[in-house]
Amino acid sequence: SSWWGHVEPAPKDPILGVTEAFLADPSPDKVNVGVGAYRDDNGKPVVLECVREAERRIAGTLNMEYLPMGGSVKMIEETLKLAYGEDSEFIKDKRIAAVQALSGTGACRLFADFQKRFLPDSQIYIPIPTWANHHNIWRDARVPQRTLRYYHPESKGLDFASMMDDIRNAPNGSFFLLHACAHNPTGVDPSEEQWREISYQFKVKNHFPFFDMAYQGFASGDPERDAKAIRIFLEDGHPIGCAQSYAKNMGLYGQRIGCLSILCEDEMQAVAVKSQLQQLARPMYSNPPVHGALIVSTILGDTELKNLWLKEVKGMADRIIGMRKALRENLEKLGSPLSWEHITNQIGMFCYSGLTPEQVDRLTSEFHIYMTRNGRISMAGVTTGNIGYLANAIHEVTT
Ligand code: PLP
Repeated sequence: SSWWGHVEPAPKDPILGVTEAFLADPSPDKVNVGVGAYRDDNGKPVVLECVREAERRIAGTLNMEYLPMGGSVKMIEETLKLAYGEDSEFIKDKRIAAVQALSGTGACRLFADFQKRFLPDSQIYIPIPTWANHHNIWRDARVPQRTLRYYHPESKGLDFASMMDDIRNAPNGSFFLLHACAHNPTGVDPSEEQWREISYQFKVKNHFPFFDMAYQGFASGDPERDAKAIRIFLEDGHPIGCAQSYAKNMGLYGQRIGCLSILCEDEMQAVAVKSQLQQLARPMYSNPPVHGALIVSTILGDTELKNLWLKEVKGMADRIIGMRKALRENLEKLGSPLSWEHITNQIGMFCYSGLTPEQVDRLTSEFHIYMTRNGRISMAGVTTGNIGYLANAIHEVTT
């Protein structure tokens, strides 16, 4: 008899599967627009100059002691300013319970566990589609999931009417997961006006908004602008939750550095909530890793380095916006009878192209172009060098 004989292999992660297939393809023409990580115009991973400089400044100055259970105080202080605003009254009033988290994923998971522990009968509404891991996170936290209609396949834009219906029809006091900006996988965000309506309806229904902000700065190029949805909810007096990540906007993917925050009614409540978040983290990993937190606090705590970071985030966002424009123009120049307006209407790292699974299969088998079968193109994988080839292949499989 075997201890683990009953253990079946877990299903393959669809995104990691795409990368594996790409790596195994010997074709010199191959293109990977599957991964959700930024690449430069040569298709290479990027380490930001502000990060390199922060590492130089840190080098040799550190000991390797544990961080406090809640993580780096300085990193959290700077991180809250990005989400809640430099002069936020909530920060001054110490109303925010915040802990360092294992990037955006860890922040979401900690919140889901907190939700389950203190409101065990609650559910969460999740936009359809969403980052696939959201479903795994709330499933493993044993919080039942409900669907929030979000994407409109015909317009390849927001299904605002259905979204508002779902918000109105949810039981009062429901939890909702919202992407703060640059929705993954669709690249479709509500407009400012729509966010205001959403916030208003949340108020009427007494819903709780949990913002996953994995791409602050990556949508517009300006972190302040990308925090607009959150600021609207704050202005309207909502208690919110927020997951922040430095994976994309500082290129710190493997450092696993992020933050979970919950805006509370007063300082006393925030102290209690923070202590419970720490209590949840303790039996899982005791305390978070130190290196990424130091990089972040070094950059954001120094005016010169922060300005360099802002310039570099804008550089990444601008390259992606430029590639969107170029991809659309290339398709139009090829005489495609289809509308490709959504490529430039959508925002952030991903373009939800509308390509069918069969068309994606053809792109892969005939053109060595790799992406997930839902037609999601990672714009970060598009470069001056491959855009003509990519546009031509898309044209071939769609006409
Ligand atoms: N949330 C969304 C919407 C994402 O797209 C991602 C990454 O792809 C994350 C969270 C988490 O990323 P990380 O855990 O690397 O910060």
